[in-house]
Amino acid sequence: MTTMSRSIDGDKIPVAPPQQGPLDALRRGEPAVWLREQSRPSAITMADVADAQARFRRFEPALRRLSPESGWDGRIRSPLIDFVPVQPAPLHRLLVKADHALPLTGSIKARGGVHELLCQAERIARSEGLLAGEASYEGLIASAARDCFSRYEVVVASTGNLGFSIGLVARLFGLKAEVHMSRDAKLWKKERLRNLGVAVVEHECDFNETVERARNACANRARSHFIDDETSGELLLGYATAAHELTEQLDDRGIRIDIERPLFVYLPCGVGGAPGGITFALKHIFGKACVCVFVEPVGAASMFAAMSSGGVTPIHVAKLGLKNATFADGLAVPSASPLVLGVVGNMIDAVVAVSDDAMSTWIRRAWHEGGLRLEPAAAAGFAALEPFLEAARTASPQSTLSRWQNAVHVVWTTGGSLLPDHEFLTLLEGSPA
Ligand SMILES: *Cc1c(COP(=O)(O)O)cnc(C)c1O
Repeated sequence: MTTMSRSIDGDKIPVAPPQQGPLDALRRGEPAVWLREQSRPSAITMADVADAQARFRRFEPALRRLSPESGWDGRIRSPLIDFVPVQPAPLHRLLVKADHALPLTGSIKARGGVHELLCQAERIARSEGLLAGEASYEGLIASAARDCFSRYEVVVASTGNLGFSIGLVARLFGLKAEVHMSRDAKLWKKERLRNLGVAVVEHECDFNETVERARNACANRARSHFIDDETSGELLLGYATAAHELTEQLDDRGIRIDIERPLFVYLPCGVGGAPGGITFALKHIFGKACVCVFVEPVGAASMFAAMSSGGVTPIHVAKLGLKNATFADGLAVPSASPLVLGVVGNMIDAVVAVSDDAMSTWIRRAWHEGGLRLEPAAAAGFAALEPFLEAARTASPQSTLSRWQNAVHVVWTTGGSLLPDHEFLTLLEGSPA
């Protein structure tokens, strides 16, 4: 290899050779090797997931104190529920992972968003000496600690649920919160936040642009932490803890997952953090015995766009002529998270794009057939069943997909239990709001 030099003011300084792309050798007609970049260290590891679980446990006594009268144990957990739909033709086993009913926030953001908030509360508490010596986590919601937290701020961009989760839990600790809402955010979601004492900044732009604006707004402020839905490992880790929870629940029911009886999970996808974190951990636990299906609205099929064009770089859906238009506000994301593509891109088995009509139908069916109170995004997993299983019929016999008839299917319902009655009734009537 030659080292090139160039001369500046007579001094020779070494210059690195130009970066060799994998195609350069081929272009010269030489033998070449392409290696999947798996050897790159992942941005997160299973040890980090275990840390996140431990953090949730440490905070249980503090969270429990937030609503002592409810008898809540402070654990952010959701039930696993049997579901027997009228259609499609009976599957061997269909279960619902009911994150729409998660404590505190009524959506899957109680895992990711709340985890990052707890990380930040812990950092502040440590730096302020609130956890020194004999101090306990319970003390973190006492008034002395709240006074201290009130000098700090968290900022986040959201289409609704992330902002609510961050805003709610930040206020419980006394932290200031500023939530930037994209144009997809529902009015009632903004009002609910304002009622909590959260500063709501409205933007007339899409989610990715709102993230950019919020990031900039926060950049030069002291004692301010930006929760970045597009690049945060702490969010991803919070979601990832759900995989162990599901594994325990399957164990408790005596359901054994293996290659002959695989696990199929249907995960609604916005930027990809929630489904990505869960997929990361499930694939480590079950390997090929699990199939992870991401589900998006047709109008905002950003993960679909990215995966079907190589899975490395985000593709804005506008490039496909799509308008990011969907009534599923939780999934109205025009461009997938680069972090998720990097960490889990090659673990995603399928992406299904579903219509708003199909989600709307499933909001009604989930209610009438299972008593589940879902928001549009949360019904996406159900809507994916038929088109996905139709496609799986043609899978090669070597593929885990071909075992769909024996599989345990888990539809992840990601939000909705805290929808106000009139909002839910409107959804049931089927006129997308
Ligand atoms: C945020 C959200 C999702 C998707 O999570 P991402 O991390 O954006 O992929 C799915 N459903 C609901 C209800 C949500 O609020």
